[in-house]
Amino acid sequence: MAQDERNEETGLSEESGQPEESEQTDDSGQVESTTDLDEDIAMALENHVLNPAEDPEEASDPRTMYPSGEFEPQAQDYPGWTEAMIPRPDHGEQSYVGHHRMMGFRTLITGGDSGIGRAVAIAFAREGADVAFTYLPEEEQDAELTVQLIEAAGSRALALPGDLRDEEFCQEVIAQTVEEFDGLNVLVNNAGFQMTTSQGIEDLSSEQFDRTFKSNVYALFWLTKAALPHLQPGSSIINTSSIQGYHPSPSLIDYAATKAAINSMTFSLAESLGSKGIRVNAVAPGPIWTPLQPPTQPEEKIVKFGQDTPLGRAGQPAELAATYVLLATEESSYISGSVIGVTGGKHLA
Ligand code: NAD
Ligand code: MG
Repeated sequence: MAQDERNEETGLSEESGQPEESEQTDDSGQVESTTDLDEDIAMALENHVLNPAEDPEEASDPRTMYPSGEFEPQAQDYPGWTEAMIPRPDHGEQSYVGHHRMMGFRTLITGGDSGIGRAVAIAFAREGADVAFTYLPEEEQDAELTVQLIEAAGSRALALPGDLRDEEFCQEVIAQTVEEFDGLNVLVNNAGFQMTTSQGIEDLSSEQFDRTFKSNVYALFWLTKAALPHLQPGSSIINTSSIQGYHPSPSLIDYAATKAAINSMTFSLAESLGSKGIRVNAVAPGPIWTPLQPPTQPEEKIVKFGQDTPLGRAGQPAELAATYVLLATEESSYISGSVIGVTGGKHLA
């Protein structure tokens, strides 16, 4: 879609790819700021957690640019919803500025309704890409807002509800994306399941072990296999790993093992697909404030979530997006078989 056309349709600023503000005068003569976005998006834009630091040094200090104290105790049922999080995560709604780096790209992000996936969806859309994403049917509320955020950037959105533990659904997801967008350039295998166990292996059930591997490893295998015939040279696969793949916690035995498997598959797929001109990489996040955490960790861990990192705080989904954009574009044309850590200072080794 031509850039001019995009802007006419969406009211986005040509320079920034951001919602364009207009000024209106109210009855009292005061100037108030409005946007063309509907109420849901306006609400999402308000729900960022940026610290309004006035001192520019503080604003760019990675320790203080986001809240760094304890989180309020909070719990949610699985899979977790954005609206119930205190504070609401920052997905870059107000901060991500596109630079036309992905014009015409056709992309698919699994688990794009919330958390890291939503931040990547916003960034890809503001860079000019069309974005398909999957989510669990019970996450409809989050998915609807992600659709609005993609469309507000002037891109096409395709929301695909279903369970990635089903091979047929994985195949359908690829088929529908390719049909709707007439191709696929970037596959982001981001959906993931975790659940902490309090006793380690003693209370880790076979059902959970199976669920974690099906969601995190089998789905990646099925999606990648189904996508391959459609990926032309220049395409990119980006997997979401975790620091757990390097430093496994005793309470996340199954989850950590899937992330180590994802690292290994990233390396072997990069080796095997390099000759087709397809790059394969992974991003390994540290503790990131997303709806995955409150339903799957004990409350006392949520309160201190991220405080044991060198930067002393949890990361926000928005802080991941630029790395996915880098790995999706030709700016990283010689990067393949890499796992990039976004961990707040903890090393991957
Ligand atoms: P999130 O809950 O916002 O996103 C995970 C998404 O996975 C969910 O929204 C859901 O749509 C999807 N999902 C899970 N099981 C599924 C299934 N069976 N079928 C279809 N979809 C399914 O949380 P997030 O933290 O943004 O998670 C994204 C990725 O980041 C995951 O792979 C997670 O393991 C990884 N990660 C997160 C953290 C963190 O601290 N939040 C740290 C390291 C890695
Ligand atoms: Mg979700």
